[in-house]
Amino acid sequence: MENLSDRLNRLAPSATLAMSQKSSELKAQGVDVINMSVGEPDFNTPDHIKEAAKKAIDENWSRYSPVPGYPELKNAIVAKLKNENGLDYKPSQILCSNGAKQSVCNAIMALVNAGDEVIIPAPYWVSYPQMVLLAEGTPVFVEAKIEANFKITPEQLEKAITPKTRALILCSPSNPTGSVYSKAELEALKNVLLKHERVIVIADEIYEHINYVGRHASMAEFADIKDRVVIINGVSKAYAMTGWRIGFIAAAEWIVKGCNKLQGQYTSGPCSVSQKAAEVAFAGDQTCVETMRQAFERRKNLIVKLAKEIPGLEVNDPEGAFYLFPKCSSYFGKADGDRRINNSTDLAMYLLEVGHVATVGGDAFGSPECFRFSYATSDENIIEAMKRIKETLARLK
Ligand code: PMP
Ligand code: GLU
Repeated sequence: MENLSDRLNRLAPSATLAMSQKSSELKAQGVDVINMSVGEPDFNTPDHIKEAAKKAIDENWSRYSPVPGYPELKNAIVAKLKNENGLDYKPSQILCSNGAKQSVCNAIMALVNAGDEVIIPAPYWVSYPQMVLLAEGTPVFVEAKIEANFKITPEQLEKAITPKTRALILCSPSNPTGSVYSKAELEALKNVLLKHERVIVIADEIYEHINYVGRHASMAEFADIKDRVVIINGVSKAYAMTGWRIGFIAAAEWIVKGCNKLQGQYTSGPCSVSQKAAEVAFAGDQTCVETMRQAFERRKNLIVKLAKEIPGLEVNDPEGAFYLFPKCSSYFGKADGDRRINNSTDLAMYLLEVGHVATVGGDAFGSPECFRFSYATSDENIIEAMKRIKETLARLK
C-alpha cells in the first residue's frame, strides 16, 4: 500500500521549487522561458571562494566534520557577527547546517511542541508554515498588507500572541516582499515581545546584505531580548552560493545544543568542502558582496519602473532582497478566450504557459492577491520578461 505518513500528507510541496522545475521542463522542450520563479543570485560564486574549496579538496578536508561545523568556520561567523553586526557570540552559540533552510527547520523542530503556536507575518516565505506543521505546531498568520509596506505593527503582534505562542518568525529583508524592518520598527515589536517571556524570535536574516536602505538591523541588537533571538543566516544569497548549502544559527547555547542533537541524528555536519569555502566567504574580501548588491539595486529600480508601466498591477518598492511582489488581483475573473484567471496561481501558470515567464503565485506565500518575481537575473531578461508580461496580461478581458 502506497501510504505516506500523516506528517508528510500534511505537507505542501515547495511552490518556488515546483515553479522553477516547471520552467526547466518547458526549457528542456525548447521553449524560451525566462525564469523569475526561484530566488537565487544569477552570479557565479566569487573566485577566491572557489579557490578555497579547491584547496580544501587537495588538502583532504574530506572527512566528517564536527556536527555544528569546523571551529575555524564558527570563528569566522563569530567575527562576522562582531564586525558587521556589533554582536557578541561565542563559538558554542553557533551551529552550521546544510543551508539556512535546515537552520530554520532545526530551530522550529527544537522549540515547537505539538499545539504550540508560531506567529508568521504574511506574506511569508513558503517553507515557514510547512516547517511548523512538520513540528505539529500551529502557524498563526498576521496579515501585512501592501498599504503597510508588507510590515506588521506592534498592535497586530500583541493581538496575535496567546499563552500558546512559542515563536515569531520574522524575515527582514523579506522574501517575498523585499520589505526591511528598521531598527525602530524592530524595537517596537521587541517591546511587545518583552511582555511575553515564552516567545522566541526566529530572525531570518539571509538577505542581510541585499539591502537598499542602509545598515541591516537585527532583533539581536537589543540586549534585553538577545537571549531569545535565533539568528538565521548563511552564504547562499550574499555570496552567490546557493548550491554549496551552508547556513547557520546564532543563538543561546541551550537552543544550539538542542539543534546540535537533532542535526547529529539527522544529517551530521554540513559538507566539509563547502564549510572551507564558507569560511573564506565570511573572513575574506567582502568587495564581491557590495558589487552584487549594487547590481541587484540597479535591477530593482529597473523592474519597479517597468512593472509600474503595466496596467492593473499595484507595485511596492522593495527595500531589500531580490523580489518584487505586485498585487495582481485586478486580473482575477478575467479571461483569455476560455482560459479564466481565478487566482494568482492561475495567473502565474498563464504567464508561464502563454507569456513564457516563470513567476510564483502569491497563494503559497499567504498573499493570494499578489505574485512574486525574482529579479536576480540580467537587465536584458528583466526587460524582455516585463514586455512579455505586459503583452500577455493585455490579452485578459
Ligand atoms: N530563508 C529565506 C527567506 C529564503 O528565501 C531562503 C532561500 N531559499 C532560505 C531561508 C534558505 O536559504 P539556503 O537554504 O539556501 O541557505
Ligand atoms: N529562497 C528561494 C525562493 O524562495 C529558493 C527556493 C526555496 O528554497 O524554496 O525562491
